[in-house]
Amino acid sequence: MATGNINVTAENIFPIIKKFLYSDHEIFLRELISNATDATLKLKHLSTLGEIKGDIGEPMIEVKVDKKKKEIRIIDQGVGMTGEEVEKYINQVAFSGAEEFVEKYKDKVEDSGIIGHFGLGFYSSFMVADKVEIFTKSFQKDAKAVRWECDGSPKYTLEEIDRKERGTEIVLHIDEDSKDFLEDSKITELLKKYNKFMPIPIKFGTREETLPLPKDAKEGTEPEKITVDNLINNPTPAWTKNPKDLKDEDYKSFYRELYPMQFEEPLFHIHLNVDYPFHLTGILYFPKLSKNLDPTKDRIQLYQSQVFVTDNVEGIVPDFLQMLRGVIDSPDIPLNVSRSYLQSDAAVKKISSYITRKVADKLTNLFKKDRKAFEEKWDDIKIIIEYGMLSEDKFFEKSDKFALYPTVDKEYLTWAELEEKIKPIQTDKDNKLVVLYASDVKTQHSYINAAKEKGYTVLLLDSPIVSHLLQKLEGAKKDVQFVRVDADHVDNLIKKDENKISKLSDEEKEKLKPIIEEVIPKETYTVQMEAMDSNANPFIITQPEFMRRMKEMQASGGGGMMGMGNFPDMYNLVINTNNDLVSEILNTKTKKKQERLIQQAFDLAKLSQGLLQGEELTNFIKRSFEMVK
Ligand code: ADP
Ligand code: MG
Repeated sequence: MATGNINVTAENIFPIIKKFLYSDHEIFLRELISNATDATLKLKHLSTLGEIKGDIGEPMIEVKVDKKKKEIRIIDQGVGMTGEEVEKYINQVAFSGAEEFVEKYKDKVEDSGIIGHFGLGFYSSFMVADKVEIFTKSFQKDAKAVRWECDGSPKYTLEEIDRKERGTEIVLHIDEDSKDFLEDSKITELLKKYNKFMPIPIKFGTREETLPLPKDAKEGTEPEKITVDNLINNPTPAWTKNPKDLKDEDYKSFYRELYPMQFEEPLFHIHLNVDYPFHLTGILYFPKLSKNLDPTKDRIQLYQSQVFVTDNVEGIVPDFLQMLRGVIDSPDIPLNVSRSYLQSDAAVKKISSYITRKVADKLTNLFKKDRKAFEEKWDDIKIIIEYGMLSEDKFFEKSDKFALYPTVDKEYLTWAELEEKIKPIQTDKDNKLVVLYASDVKTQHSYINAAKEKGYTVLLLDSPIVSHLLQKLEGAKKDVQFVRVDADHVDNLIKKDENKISKLSDEEKEKLKPIIEEVIPKETYTVQMEAMDSNANPFIITQPEFMRRMKEMQASGGGGMMGMGNFPDMYNLVINTNNDLVSEILNTKTKKKQERLIQQAFDLAKLSQGLLQGEELTNFIKRSFEMVK
């Protein structure tokens, strides 16, 4: 038997390990199971290389909890360690790993920016145990089994023991503060959280299974019950497989495996698979976005070689794709660094832009392969796509191939198709292409109808970030302007070089304008004289596109709108100089009657826009009754 001192600079590192990463004590299990997995994978590898003779069987990992003895055991049938290897890998390597780790992060205990605390490794067991034993026997011929023990001080003992089975058994003597980990339910929870998809089968306890009754069973026969190993994990999750070997149904069932509480099926999936210049696999799903979507639930999960790390993929997956679901797995993502570092890491940036590109390619393919099906999905995916167009320039460029612009009549047009369709009649006198859109078919019904009667195409753009997107499109496309159908009278939506004849002369117009301005609130309404169709209403209220969009952008946040104060509501009051009522107002001799006519016409214009409310509405009704009396 040998005893020794673990070579440390810090006199006693264990109290530090214990205290620190307080909330993350649970990772000890993940670390020990990762080690057991590594040892088993090594064994399998050596066996395929022919360096181990004979059958290695189906090695698995077992976790055992003894509540009375306050012990947790992690048992593997992997390569094991010789005495020298324990000296080297546990006393020196693992220890230096732990030391380095503590050194690096001791000031950052509270830094929630650290994701996954990989690197602490074997010594994380001292976060929950006051004594740790290792029983191990190497696969090597004639290797002697050894037992190592350490009670959390820098002293350890190492002795030869009798043990026949190849592999390693770690025994944790759980300390008072960590008793919770002796609950079966706690261990099951942790195994399901971190090890659900690890590559070696993990057994924890047993469970009863009822066998189906044989066909010829007599009536009243009790079905037979058997006890089977309770296996925790699926060692070959879908993302580790070749996409060629998977059917649509396999992807769907993997989705259910990932999110057992999700009952809605995903719309489609994207299988990620790169080897160069970094390693990354995974499957992303486009979910059907419902209104009561909880963004903190069922998020994308990040794995490192099938070990769960986190479901906060901020910085790794571009923002606009964080509404997706699924998994990504990469050994190349540095995990024990802060998020701000992560975002500036070159490898991580490449991963993020790779994912963006893959998603764009997949969307292009889906669109090309089955346009009809793609159109049916559009309303469910448009938010994600529009957000991506806004936030990622690369994605914006690619989106021209698949982004759709639906009309109010549910015709889904690409940008090129839209341009071709509307160019002939929706180009204005300055050669700008005017794209008309509505945001709500019900409240804008009359405007939509009027535009359609003129032969215009009206899009239905109703997502919350649309005003930002239009701004972006106007900046990127040449000579394009988006105008909402209710931004002006239909005759003015697209300004052409038509000289319309006005019944009122310029002098008459100049005379009328101040008379009207005296009656209406000037700070909110700008009076405009327009020669329109004589059948068109005399007074029309419109909200200029620019004003409305600014207000919307401010409401939905971002776009440099912060701190600019609140935009006031501003409208245009368009006076149709060809309508007879307008001539009548001008020619009314009594001032009082003139004011009443203006007020009444103004209120009617407001009424048609839903702007007449409260006291104004009451007064209007009263006045109207008096007028018909
Ligand atoms: P890491 O896993 O990052 O190398 P650890 O501190 O977790 O760091 O482990 C240190 C070393 O101890 C491992 O690299 C391995 O050589 C050895 N080791 C730990 N656990 C086992 C095990 N169950 N079987 C065989 N070797 C192990
Ligand atoms: Mg390890």
